[in-house]
Amino acid sequence: MQVAVIGGGVIGVCTAYFLAAAGHEVVVIERYGNVAQETSFGNAGIVAPGYVTPWAAPGMPKKILSYLFKPESPVLIKPTMDPVLWRWVRMWLAECELERYRINKERMQRIASYSQHILQQLREHYSLDYEQTTGVLQLFRNQLELQMAQSGIDMLAANGLPHRLVDADEARLIEPALAIHTPLTAGLYLPQDEAGNCPLFTRHLKNIAQTMGVEFHFNSTVDAIEPEHNRVTFRIEERTFRADAVVIAAGVESAQLLEPLGIHIPLYPVKGYSATAFIKNFDQAPLAAVTDESYKVAITRMGSRVRIAGTAELGSRTPDLHKAALRTLVKVGDDWFPDAANYSSATFWCGARPMLPDGPPLLGATPVKNVFVNIGHGSAGWAMAAGSGKVLADLISGQAPDIDLDGLTLSRYG
Ligand SMILES: Cc1cc2nc3c(=O)[nH]c(=O)nc-3n(C[C@H](O)[C@H](O)[C@H](O)COP(=O)(O)OP(=O)(O)OC[C@H]3O[C@@H](n4cnc5c(N)ncnc54)[C@H](O)[C@@H]3O)c2cc1C
Repeated sequence: MQVAVIGGGVIGVCTAYFLAAAGHEVVVIERYGNVAQETSFGNAGIVAPGYVTPWAAPGMPKKILSYLFKPESPVLIKPTMDPVLWRWVRMWLAECELERYRINKERMQRIASYSQHILQQLREHYSLDYEQTTGVLQLFRNQLELQMAQSGIDMLAANGLPHRLVDADEARLIEPALAIHTPLTAGLYLPQDEAGNCPLFTRHLKNIAQTMGVEFHFNSTVDAIEPEHNRVTFRIEERTFRADAVVIAAGVESAQLLEPLGIHIPLYPVKGYSATAFIKNFDQAPLAAVTDESYKVAITRMGSRVRIAGTAELGSRTPDLHKAALRTLVKVGDDWFPDAANYSSATFWCGARPMLPDGPPLLGATPVKNVFVNIGHGSAGWAMAAGSGKVLADLISGQAPDIDLDGLTLSRYG
């Protein structure tokens, strides 16, 4: 089949690779000049099925309210009347109930675990180096944070995901450069979880896909998609193209492409930030990835650089850098690894997570024949990319995917 993939982020490139591997003729259409230029560009890099969790969780609404009055907050809300946001918030609140949280988390961990396995296969097969590290350490500054994480820890045990609760001393053995002056109650160590440079991986996979015949059309924006008998047409600046099938993998823009087809997805762009700095003292830098549960910030080692990423900003659709968000990142970096780098001279970035209110992504067919989606991966798209791409290629090839897709398709929105 001739398949067009719209979007050259990590999700689109993984989809294109697996479609080509299954023998299809594939084109990727990307509005920028290279792959992974948008949300896939500056993320925290964590590939951790054990850490993947819905933001809609019991206690979260209260916690978010308390954050709003703190000088350094993981959540920023820009006042807006945008009805799309308020509808999203209403749906999100309904998902914060414990049973919904458990269901959503299981769905997310199912695709993330599968995805990690597929990513490892790709890495071994092509000897890929994308600055990957092994082990993720979650840090809890106080007892309350640890208590709030308890239901998630129970699920790790239930799902057989390797993890170990460690005290502050053991946490400092795992990450010897952790600052002594910052209060640390406990850590949760996920020894098999990983981190890595997402855009570097995406560029490697793009090069491999090109050798397999995948064509990349850069600087091309798809304006509309229209079904046509047994094919699909799509328009790029007044020109019309045809394919046997189209996969929408356009990140936060996906909902706009689906609206005219009568498919309404509650996808909202939740802005996040990162700071990337060159390491000045290697013995004072993190060895792998740590996360600070109080500020919902991740600190990741990426080769000779350290990246600090986090913040959820609602209500802003523009790419401007909010100073309060950057202050939080610098503070968390200084709290845990003060001598690793000069964070205030870091390169700052922001991107929008393609978030659905419940958490799991949407994979596979739509009610429109030959139009498929690979969207809504929210804060864990890198962790879910390889598996999601393989699932899409299997579905389009008429093969049964390796995992159960219950709760991971459009049918969950009726
Ligand atoms: C601060 C932050 C930290 C994060 N940390 C992590 C993490 O540690 N681990 C993790 O797994 N995930 C993380 N994420 C989430 C992850 O980055 C995203 O889920 C993932 O990048 C989404 O990939 P994507 O390919 O769907 O979107 P994108 O990377 O945004 O790709 C979509 C592409 O589609 C293109 N496009 C859009 N519309 C059109 C059109 N009409 N025509 C042509 N092209 C189009 C865009 O230009 C873009 O390149 C983080 C995100 C943020 C913001």
